[in-house]
Amino acid sequence: MAGKKSKGEKLQEEIMYRPKAVGETDHGLLSKSLDFAEGYKDFLGNKTEREIVDYTIPILKKNGYAEFALGKKYAPGDKFYVNNRGKALIMVTVGSKPVSDGLRVGVSHIDSPRLDFKPNPLFESFDLGYFKTHYYGGIKKYQWFAIPLSIRGVVALKDGGSVTVRIGDRPGEPTFCVTDLLPHLAMNQMKKPVSEAFEGEQLNLLVGSWPYDDEKVQSKVKLNVMSLLSEKYGIVEEDFLSAELCAVPAFMPSDLGFDRSMVAGYGQDDSVCAYANLMAEIGCKNPSYTTVTVFADKEETGSDGPTGMRSAFFRDFLKDFLQPYGAEARHVLRNSICFSCDVNAAIDPAFPEVFEPSNCSHMNRGPVVSKYTGSRGKYSTNDASAETMAFVRSILDGAGIPWQVGELGKVDAGGGGTVAAEISVHNMDTVDVGVPVLSMHSPYEVVSKVDLYLLYRALAAFYGCPEAKP
Ligand code: MN
Ligand code: MN
Repeated sequence: MAGKKSKGEKLQEEIMYRPKAVGETDHGLLSKSLDFAEGYKDFLGNKTEREIVDYTIPILKKNGYAEFALGKKYAPGDKFYVNNRGKALIMVTVGSKPVSDGLRVGVSHIDSPRLDFKPNPLFESFDLGYFKTHYYGGIKKYQWFAIPLSIRGVVALKDGGSVTVRIGDRPGEPTFCVTDLLPHLAMNQMKKPVSEAFEGEQLNLLVGSWPYDDEKVQSKVKLNVMSLLSEKYGIVEEDFLSAELCAVPAFMPSDLGFDRSMVAGYGQDDSVCAYANLMAEIGCKNPSYTTVTVFADKEETGSDGPTGMRSAFFRDFLKDFLQPYGAEARHVLRNSICFSCDVNAAIDPAFPEVFEPSNCSHMNRGPVVSKYTGSRGKYSTNDASAETMAFVRSILDGAGIPWQVGELGKVDAGGGGTVAAEISVHNMDTVDVGVPVLSMHSPYEVVSKVDLYLLYRALAAFYGCPEAKP
């Protein structure tokens, strides 16, 4: 029944906050998002931080980025990047305003939970060949049994050379897996709590079963696997001592749903944010504030190490970049704002009990802004200030971008963190902005294409280039 709005209805519109599903307010948005997601699925085929860096650098070069030159005073519109050990990246577009006015910083991480190989991984047991693994990041171990896995990484050699390994996810390639116990003999296993039923030392990767043809040698299957690796990659077993190899899910990203509105795939935490961040950075031609986009490593294990956000690399880079302008990093940081771009948990109808619906993120409501993360009474979090949240509102609402707020879950249900805490120690206002995800940290995560596209637009608006076209 259409008609004049009542006084209460008008008042409701004026003063009440009502989060909306984007599909109801802007139905045509899906078609734009479908196109955008095609490039994303390609990006998502890169499953480790090294692969993402290797994939991204040629894109940067094609878009006018050159390697950072120490001591150079860059002009507005100049673009450059810093490659930190092939595992982390900083990308910059110089703005027209003085750097002392502050930077617009976007940080996402490019590492994802996986099974890292142990330093001495290869062994044989009951005539089967395996690699021992040590899981990286927060996984539910059971999810890694009985799924196809691919091997990726690098073997560094004593002579300074290195061998890149990527096998198991292209058509025709062999895959690998961790075997699981048959239900018929799982009586005891099934009685255990999930946290005890699957052990880290069971996460061994099956890589061969056929013996080397020589009755005089021991461990024939192991020798056969190693001889094949030696043939293919030119390595010997001792070379594993200086390698970073891992197993990641072999399946490639795909559209999900009859309406193709979602993407399913491994590593969307945090490639979904990294891709949006990259597209906004590249598309930004003449920003007023200098944009700084960071791809960080090691977020999933606490951001330690020289390529993680606890490393001095970010601060040191800023000092180097700012020096020719006569600006001090500490003054510039105080005037800067950072969007820490990481995923959040979308409410899942299968597990509603851990979510608080009016303060958690929902699929297809646009990017989720999290004032804080952490756990147990806001421990271990950057808690964005009211002023920073007001800034976010003015940027996103000003650009007409639907968005939502979201905590991770119910107050005492658990918790989690992002690099926001590591970034804000530099005395920079920081806020978490990301994409809601279903099945986060699983081998097959799900995101909405519209949320991905809207995060890109949100970052473009934040960078001051709302019209940015990737
Ligand atoms: Mn993350
Ligand atoms: Mn994560």
